Amino acid sequence: MSQAKPSILYITLGCAKNEVDTDRMRALLNAAGYDEALDSAEADAVIINTCSFLASASSESIECTLQLAEEVHDGVRSTPIVMCGCLPSRYGDDLPDELPEVAAFVPADKEDGIVSVVDRVLGRSERMEVSVPDVKRTVEGAVAYLKISDGCDRFCSFCAIPYIRGRYASRGAASILAEARELVAGGVRELVLIGQDTGIWGTDFDESVEGPRTLAELLVAVAEAVRPEHVWIRVLYLQPEGMTPELISAIRDTPEVLPYIDIPVQHCSARVLAAMNRSGSEAELDELFSRLRSEIPDMVIRTTYLAGFPGETDDEAAAMLAFMDRTGFDYTSVFEYSAEEGTRAAKMDCQLDEAVKIERTQAGMDLAESLGFAATAARVGTTADVIVDGVEETDDGLELIGHAWFQAPDCDGAVHLDIEEAAVGDILKVRFTDSFCYELVGEVVEE
Ligand code: SF4
Repeated sequence: MSQAKPSILYITLGCAKNEVDTDRMRALLNAAGYDEALDSAEADAVIINTCSFLASASSESIECTLQLAEEVHDGVRSTPIVMCGCLPSRYGDDLPDELPEVAAFVPADKEDGIVSVVDRVLGRSERMEVSVPDVKRTVEGAVAYLKISDGCDRFCSFCAIPYIRGRYASRGAASILAEARELVAGGVRELVLIGQDTGIWGTDFDESVEGPRTLAELLVAVAEAVRPEHVWIRVLYLQPEGMTPELISAIRDTPEVLPYIDIPVQHCSARVLAAMNRSGSEAELDELFSRLRSEIPDMVIRTTYLAGFPGETDDEAAAMLAFMDRTGFDYTSVFEYSAEEGTRAAKMDCQLDEAVKIERTQAGMDLAESLGFAATAARVGTTADVIVDGVEETDDGLELIGHAWFQAPDCDGAVHLDIEEAAVGDILKVRFTDSFCYELVGEVVEE
């Protein structure tokens, strides 16, 4: 090994939920006496936390692993790779034969055992005991993702997640609140609550569980737990059925909870939704979004359109575009449908031609951009609080960037600031002077 304390390079692919899982593994390994390496040349082992949500994500995970294997097995030294997360969860037994470059595979539900896996891979045998529940996450930036559940029970016909991450399991409120307090004490200014299906948090608790039992109650409890700090609280991945009157009130009436709602509808057609094993209809979605807009002033809405689902007709695709336009989504992610191994939709005999799927995806993306760019441009001339996230290298040198409350970190664009100095986590009052695509340019008007 290269030094007294062996060091680990962490690579995270996929969504924010994987970021949380990597943070957790990092905390466990740090507690067990490991250091973090910043590049593969310094690392004694590499942990790659993979995504397998779509076939393209699985391919990216495999490509990244093979590239890494070339880099770290350069003939001079051999740095073991430990593959974690969704790919081992999904393809478990097949992987050792397919990827002999990888020293160990750790499925998502076994990641709390990462220390013993890395110890074994590096031939370490003596250590202090690490108590898994006591290990604390540390986060460097101003934003932290807070996982409130794992798995999913919805079994949408196109989605492999329930097979990868297992059945829905809410995380206990006490553990969520403790982590929220630790993160805020460590300087975090925004908590982003995530899970595959956040709206049904708590529905799997039995009668004996005390404290918050619904997402609405949890949001209020998180806000109270971190006061007197005024922290932004954002919740992602709500399903339409989860938007209860109680939740709408909690979002509207809890000052820390941002009026930002992410509801991945996937489609508006009742027929397509039924084929997706989802519920709802265009009329119900229209009613939901107009109710949200009328009950939560200034609300920002993000959604998702899965384009080219098997059997989607031209009329249904056009109806989805009209629905997006009419609702005026601020942000829309458009994904092209892909037949995921093991899912019911992959076995449907009405798969669309690739060219049709590409055309519909492009049409969805074009509309999403035109709505999103317009919503961003409409902010020019207004003022809002912006959290400073760090610096970014540009052609003109380093630039400070941050995000406003209406921009979910890492996905909705950023604010480019006109000042040279500020600390990560500072919250500044900013007037927006220009925009480009989803990005805003802003001048600090007061602190
Ligand atoms: S709600 Fe549907 S799309 Fe989302 S994770 Fe669950 S099964 Fe997949």
